[in-house]
Amino acid sequence: MVVKAVVLERYGPPEVLEYRDVVDPVPAEGEALVKVAAAGVNRVDVWIRTGKYQVKLPHVLGVDVAGEVLSSTVPQFKRGDRVVVFPDMPCGRCKQCLTGRFMLCRNSSRLGSTRWGGYAELVTAPAATLVPVPGDVSLEEAAALPVNYTTAWHALITDTGVGPGMRVLVVGASSGVGVAATQIASLSGAEVIAMVGDEWKVEKAYKAGASLVVNRTKKDVVEEVMKATDGEGVDVVLEMAGAAFWEKALQCLAPGGTLVTVGATVGDQVSFNVRPFFRKYQKIIGSGVGTQAEFLKIIDLVSKGRLRPFIDKVFSLKEASEAHKRLEAGEHFGKILLKP
Ligand SMILES: [Zn+2]
Repeated sequence: MVVKAVVLERYGPPEVLEYRDVVDPVPAEGEALVKVAAAGVNRVDVWIRTGKYQVKLPHVLGVDVAGEVLSSTVPQFKRGDRVVVFPDMPCGRCKQCLTGRFMLCRNSSRLGSTRWGGYAELVTAPAATLVPVPGDVSLEEAAALPVNYTTAWHALITDTGVGPGMRVLVVGASSGVGVAATQIASLSGAEVIAMVGDEWKVEKAYKAGASLVVNRTKKDVVEEVMKATDGEGVDVVLEMAGAAFWEKALQCLAPGGTLVTVGATVGDQVSFNVRPFFRKYQKIIGSGVGTQAEFLKIIDLVSKGRLRPFIDKVFSLKEASEAHKRLEAGEHFGKILLKP
């Protein structure tokens, strides 16, 4: 059988992504073979493509995958089951796993990173990472969930305890994580201020649940945040821009507030004045993709219609480089998907 995939042979610009035949993937013991219906495009794919994160080459990207089981080596799954793959497979035995910190497992495998991912017609995955997709959730919607929604959930619910009475600033609110964060924070009862960089995204961010949307190209974000919070600032800033917004993000933070960073899309190196920071008892937390347990809660909420991913645009596998260009140019609102 000829199987097509998008292969990364060398690091570089979007054009290095090559659509071609690959060897038929065979599931090992404890794994299943999944026919890919949709794969999410994530910022981490760009970081791997450009060599910021090194992987074993040649490589197939794709951390988020949903599809149908073609064959399975375990009885829990059978041909035709609709599933979404949770990307991480922690070892369950190391010190971090045994203390419940699965994100920090040193022996964890990750789809699209330590093993070939979903930019393909077929993918193998550990059966333990397959999550059934409820009938009322499409496979496209399911593929939009794992990375973005568990990242937002872990940062906001698990790390910072966002809930009623709290105010949250979501930086990069039009990104996949940003939309997920706006929805999750507003579902939790918090008040969300969403920051976007284009006028056409303003309305969409309100639809995602923001109570105030600030277009950073038209208004001063710190000023708007202070106006909206009676000069106090927000309890939590979800940051992902990195150097581009770091100092302003801290200025938006209330005394005792927490900045949680999940990315660095515009610059890795930041500097800030530490004096007001410690005087205000503030915190900075690093965070990333959450756990499979968190993902189960998310998919349940999606099934109940409480959360719903925004699909920005669907590209064919052949157009993977176009999809990357759209993500890198920030032309999207919500999730970019690839379909075989
Ligand atoms: Zn472990």
